[in-house]
Amino acid sequence: MTGSPLPPAFHFAYLLAAVLFIVGLKFLSHPARARDGNLLAALGMAVATLATLVALWLPGSGAHHRGLILLGIVAGGVVGAVAARRVAITDMPQMVALLNGAGGGSAALVSTVEFLHAAAGGARVGATSAASAMFGCVIGAVSFSGSLVAFGKLQGIISERAITSTAQKIVNAVVFLNLLATISVVAGGGGAPWFLALLGGSLVFGVLMVIPIGGADMPVVISILNSFTGLAVAATGFVLANNALIISGTLVGASGTLLTLLMCKAMNRSLANVLFAGVGAGPVAGARGGAGSGAAPGAGPARLVREINAEDAGVLLSNIQSLIIVPGYGMAVAQAQHAVRELAEMLARRGVDVKYAVHPVAGRMPGHMNVLLAEANVPYDQLYDLEQINPEFERCDVALVIGANDVVNPAARTERASPIYGMPILDVDKAKHVIVIKRSMNPGFAGIDNALYYGPKTYMLFGDAKGAVSKLVEALKAAA
Ligand code: NAP
Repeated sequence: MTGSPLPPAFHFAYLLAAVLFIVGLKFLSHPARARDGNLLAALGMAVATLATLVALWLPGSGAHHRGLILLGIVAGGVVGAVAARRVAITDMPQMVALLNGAGGGSAALVSTVEFLHAAAGGARVGATSAASAMFGCVIGAVSFSGSLVAFGKLQGIISERAITSTAQKIVNAVVFLNLLATISVVAGGGGAPWFLALLGGSLVFGVLMVIPIGGADMPVVISILNSFTGLAVAATGFVLANNALIISGTLVGASGTLLTLLMCKAMNRSLANVLFAGVGAGPVAGARGGAGSGAAPGAGPARLVREINAEDAGVLLSNIQSLIIVPGYGMAVAQAQHAVRELAEMLARRGVDVKYAVHPVAGRMPGHMNVLLAEANVPYDQLYDLEQINPEFERCDVALVIGANDVVNPAARTERASPIYGMPILDVDKAKHVIVIKRSMNPGFAGIDNALYYGPKTYMLFGDAKGAVSKLVEALKAAA
C-alpha cells in the first residue's frame, strides 16, 4: 500500500524520532526534567514530520495533492499553537481530548483511504493489510467520536451526567454485535461499502460508549481513548510500513494504558467500574449553602462549621512549627500557586517546617498539582506523595487545605455507600488543626459532603483561594 521503498536515511530519521520520543517520555516522569522531556518529544515529532514531508517529494513516492498536505500542516500547526497558548490549565483535559480525537480520526481516515485504494476496482485486499486497516479504522474512529463526547461533557456542552438505562445498554450491545459482524464480513473479503459501514458503525459506537460515563470519570476515559489512539496509529504504521508510526503509536498505547490503570488505582476503582457502573447518574448529592455561612444548610438538619477570618488564621500560623499544604482543584481554578509559594516561603523563613502533600488525583488530570507548583518554582523536595506524607499529619501543627475536597474526605475511609469509598485519601483530619480554604460549602467533583469541614479541629476560611492566601500573607506580615 506504499510507493517505492524509502532510502536508508529516512529510516534513520524515523529511528532518531523514535529514540527522541522514548527519551522524552522517560524525562517526563520527573518534574525536574519534564520540560526537557517535552522539548525532546517535540523535536522527535519535528524530525518525523520533516522526514515524511521530504519523502513526499522523492521521485516515485506516489504522493498527490502535496500543496493540500502543506496547507493542512500549516493550518493544523497554527490552530494547535494558538489553542495551546490560550487554554486555561484547568481546561487542559478538554484540550487533550480534542488533540487525542484528532489523532484517532487521522488514523481512521488513513486506514480507510488505504483500504479503499487497495480495494479499487473490486480487488480483494490481502488478509494482513485488511486486518491492519480494520484495526486502525475501528479503534481510531471509536477514539475520535468518543473523545468528542468527552470534550463535550467536560466543556459543559452536553450533560456531564452518566446517561444510563436498560434501553441504552441494549442499544450499545446491538451496535457492538453489529460492529463485530461487519468486521467478519470485511475480513471475509467484503469490499469498500462494507469498510465504510465499519467506519460509520465505529463512530456511532464511540459516542454510545462514552455517553453512559459520568463527567467525573472523563479524565480516565480520555486516558483510555488516548491509548486507543496510540494503538490505531501503530496499526496505520503497519498499513503504511512506517516504523516511526509503529513505535510512537505503541508508546502512546502503552503509556495511556499505564496511566489509566494508575488513575483507577488512585481512586480504588476497577476499569470496568469506571466504564460500566454509570457512576454520576444520580443527582449531585450534598450540595450546600453559600460562602460565609456559619451553618451548612442542606436536605438534613443544618450542621455547624467553624469559620475563621484571614487575620485570625494569620495569628494561628504565626505560632506553629510545622505546616502541610494540601492543594486541590480550587488552587488550580484560582491560579493561587504563586501566592501559596509566597506564604510557604514566608513561613519557612520563620523556621516553620513546610511540606506539600500531593494526592495522585488532586485536580483534574494526573500531575495537575505538580505542574502548577513547579510553575510557581516550589522546590521539588518539598513535594510529598500520599504514602510519604500520611504518617506526618498527626505530628503537624496545621494542615492547610487549599481548594481540595474529595482527596481529603474521610468518607473514603468510613462510608461504604460513598462513591469514593476505598479511595486512598490524605489524612488531613489527623493534624492538630485544619484550615480549609474554599468559597462555599459546595461539594467537589464526586458531588458529596465532607465531614472534615464539621470536625472539631477544622476552621473554614471562605473565599477564592488566591485572594484568601494573599490575605493570609498580609495577616502574617501584620502578626510579625
Ligand atoms: P474537588 O474534590 O473537585 O474539590 C475542589 C474544591 O475546590 C471544591 O469543593 C470547590 O469548592 C473548591 N474551589 C473551586 N474553585 C475554587 C476557588 N476559586 N477558590 C477556592 N476553592 C475553590 O478537588 P480535589 O480534592 O482536587 O479532587 C479531585 C477530584 O477529581 C477527585 O474526585 C478525583 O477522583 C477526580 N478526578 C481527578 C483526576 C485526576 O487525574 N486528577 C482524574 C479523574 C477524576 P467551592 O466551590 O466551595 O469553592
